[in-house]
Amino acid sequence: MMRTTILLFSLIITLSSLSAQKNFTHQDTLRGSITPERSWWDLIHYDLSVEVIPSKKALKGKNIIQYKALEEGKVMQIDLQAPMQITKVTQGKSKLKVKRDGNAHFVYLKKPSKKGAVKSITVHYEGIPTESTRPPWDGGLTWAKDNNDNDLIVTTCQGDGASIWWPCKDHMYDEVDSMRMHFTVPEHLVAVGNGRHIGTKSNKNGTKTYSWKTVNPINNYGVNINVGDYVHFGEVYKGENGSLDCSYYVLRDNLQKAKAHFKQVPGMLAAFEHWFGPYPFYEDSYKLVEVPYPGMEHQSSVTYGNGYKNGYGGRDVSGTGWGYNFDFIMIHETGHEWFANNITYKDVADMWVHEGFTAYSENLYLDYHYGKEASAEYVIGTRKNIRNDRPIIGPYNVNKRGSGDMYYKGSNILHTLRTLIDDDEKWRSILRGLNKKYYHATVTTQQIEEYISEQSGMDLKTIFDQYLRSTELPYFDGKLKGKQLKYRWKDCNDDFNMPYRIFIDGKAQMLYPTTEWQTFLLENEDAVIVRDFGFYVKFNVQ
Ligand SMILES: [Zn+2]
Repeated sequence: MMRTTILLFSLIITLSSLSAQKNFTHQDTLRGSITPERSWWDLIHYDLSVEVIPSKKALKGKNIIQYKALEEGKVMQIDLQAPMQITKVTQGKSKLKVKRDGNAHFVYLKKPSKKGAVKSITVHYEGIPTESTRPPWDGGLTWAKDNNDNDLIVTTCQGDGASIWWPCKDHMYDEVDSMRMHFTVPEHLVAVGNGRHIGTKSNKNGTKTYSWKTVNPINNYGVNINVGDYVHFGEVYKGENGSLDCSYYVLRDNLQKAKAHFKQVPGMLAAFEHWFGPYPFYEDSYKLVEVPYPGMEHQSSVTYGNGYKNGYGGRDVSGTGWGYNFDFIMIHETGHEWFANNITYKDVADMWVHEGFTAYSENLYLDYHYGKEASAEYVIGTRKNIRNDRPIIGPYNVNKRGSGDMYYKGSNILHTLRTLIDDDEKWRSILRGLNKKYYHATVTTQQIEEYISEQSGMDLKTIFDQYLRSTELPYFDGKLKGKQLKYRWKDCNDDFNMPYRIFIDGKAQMLYPTTEWQTFLLENEDAVIVRDFGFYVKFNVQ
């Protein structure tokens, strides 16, 4: 009966994911796959100029896209989402033909770019961009005001993609090696972008242009503009790679609050460098920038809107109390500098690589400052947020993410692996090793899974398959009869074989359950058997 129910259940899931698959459109494929018009050229540099016009809620600008031809090619796909419009594309002195297909624009070069050639095109654009109704979950521009009625204008675009506000190659597999940004805004406001501030120019028409640059690769959704009545302070953090410049851009009225609250930053960087290795963008500095939404992992420009308070909007996501010991947004969004900005998914289907590891970084912060027990309580506490509704890994090539369980099921997968590997120095070397091996790289989940398997010396394939690609939560099913403990895994894939630890009269015992019944012989008939909560499983021994 149970089996039938499970079969039916999985059938329903398969059917619903199939029907979801059918709903993907030609536009989803253009946006989410490496099309032939994308694959022949490699991004080298963006030089993005944008004028922000608050009176019209409009943007106008251009992006000089420098690329290298990997193969000879003539047609380039450039993405820009309606209602923004590309007004002109040029290469040298030539104006190029552009054919629009929804949000994809196919640019026809006059002459093919030869293999190995480094060239650039300039894409001019303008329009009234989509406004975000729920930043940062929903992409676009936010035209807000601060308490003194000054404009506070910011962008968010994770998921929807950077092409919601500027023209680019809007697929995560390819990153520019470096980028420059020039933001023109009314002269009484300050524009903050990614990386370092390299200059400000006053213009004759009552505007100023703020220029910023990153010398490291940057993903599209990490690029942001923040415009407001900002004031600035900073400090130098002595980290693993030397001096790290930390800059804070906050609204004028919040300067004192920010100076007190951002004292958490050095301790946070120490915790993350300990567990993940050096901050990945020393050259571009570290920044926190105040915004009118909770926050986002914009690279070397982490945006912050958590009200200068610990917790997350005043809550502790773990329900254990430990979450009140740190500012969730500061810690979580900065954790992404390692997992999202340093190591970046190629396809959003693998987004757990960003969110699972970063949700996990929250408990590593606690581990560093409050010890292992605190960190375990926190991550185990977050299990109440897991729904097991859909697989964590989404469908590929259509710009579609998997279940929101990528956050706290993701972090609990990692906590389970730490518990299983049972060697914290090895575990730390794996986390640091990932950031070294995939330094400034775009990756697939397979690369991450294989690296952890190799480095741990364990074949973790069935574990990753179970937790990332299935919604069933494995059940340790034990039966006690006299001195015999019979046990097996159930509610799982047939090949699921994760080793599992129990405590028998207080003594740790590793078992190697499969879906077949096995027997362990106890020393005493009335032994007390206790689970190890470090493993995210269901448990019953009767
Ligand atoms: Zn996140």
